[in-house]
Amino acid sequence: MRGVVRVDAPEGPKTAHLERAVGQRIERVDRRGKFLVLPLRAPGAARPADELVLHLGMTGVLGPRRPEAHLRLVLQLDGPAPDALYVQDARRFGRWLVLPDGDRASLPTLAAMGPEPLEDGFTVAGFAAALARSHAPVKALLLSQRPVSGVGNIYADEALWWARVHPLTPAADVPRVKVRALHGAIRDVLAAAVEAQGTTLYDYRTVNGEVGAYLEQLAAYGHDGDACPRCGATIVKLVVAQRGTHVCPRCQRAPRGAGAVPRGRSHRRAPVAGAPSGVAR
Ligand SMILES: [Zn+2]
Repeated sequence: MRGVVRVDAPEGPKTAHLERAVGQRIERVDRRGKFLVLPLRAPGAARPADELVLHLGMTGVLGPRRPEAHLRLVLQLDGPAPDALYVQDARRFGRWLVLPDGDRASLPTLAAMGPEPLEDGFTVAGFAAALARSHAPVKALLLSQRPVSGVGNIYADEALWWARVHPLTPAADVPRVKVRALHGAIRDVLAAAVEAQGTTLYDYRTVNGEVGAYLEQLAAYGHDGDACPRCGATIVKLVVAQRGTHVCPRCQRAPRGAGAVPRGRSHRRAPVAGAPSGVAR
């Protein structure tokens, strides 16, 4: 890398050690969950040691074109086009930093990241074991990235809806048959979302500047007040793990003691198009 320009990114934990990347070679681009991990090799070194780690957060955009607003950083590259990557981040939830010697202690989420959802290492047995160890609400455990990587707020709501699991259910109390359904739903939802190039609610754009089309396939997320496409009951919005959470009170039975679920009049809505395969309606 040729240089780092901090346009509007004060030094701090979210941009720690970034200048160490200057003069180092980006060996390749890996991904773990929602983190991009780029091993850096210093001149003359036999192998990479430092890691450049990028996380878009909620509103981060990384691309080869200079954005019109909210430009935080410019990562200047050597060689042919693109000769720079621009970091745009309206709400500053993103992280753009270097981990010296790849020490992930400062990023505990990355350090404890579970298996990749679309790879063979994500098994029903391993997922069941991870759930069995926790009494946290199953949605909170999913968001921790420990049982499986890559499941954020939107995809957690979708997968739990497909598997008919209430997000407040203590993880260890999810019945085995539903653990299996949830495992399959996570894979199906994420595979379909990747196919659609993600979900654009606000700022997210693909590298080509296009919106992610999975928004049109969402069954539960953002549909509070709408009819559940499976049973017609009204989808409600709760707060779980400090995140807006969308639930069908009929398909996803609340665990004992979770409190009354708001009631609403049912109305019909057309079924969602392009629903993930392999999950029973
Ligand atoms: Zn329903």
